[in-house]
Amino acid sequence: MSDPTEERDRRLDGNAAAGVLAEVMTMDPTTAMLTCAHCHSRTALGAHLVYADAPAMVLRCPGCMQVVMRCASDDSGRRLEMTGVQLLSAPPVG
Ligand SMILES: [Zn+2]
Repeated sequence: MSDPTEERDRRLDGNAAAGVLAEVMTMDPTTAMLTCAHCHSRTALGAHLVYADAPAMVLRCPGCMQVVMRCASDDSGRRLEMTGVQLLSAPPVG
């Protein structure tokens, strides 16, 4: 069992994640591999099926046709929903 004091000493606020998240969020999306949360297939983002004529752009898994990602951008800002993505992986930076 872990020591609660030691656990608190290891904890940082969300600002500590900014560097790594900035790398993920600014990477070339065409290099990303997505693991589908529905069928667990691993496929390049570029091989997914895109429906751009909906209120939000929708990406569907080419294996099971389930929605993996929705992205919208309008006057109120940008929104990205990825509940259909189990894992997004990309090659190392640099
Ligand atoms: Zn799938």
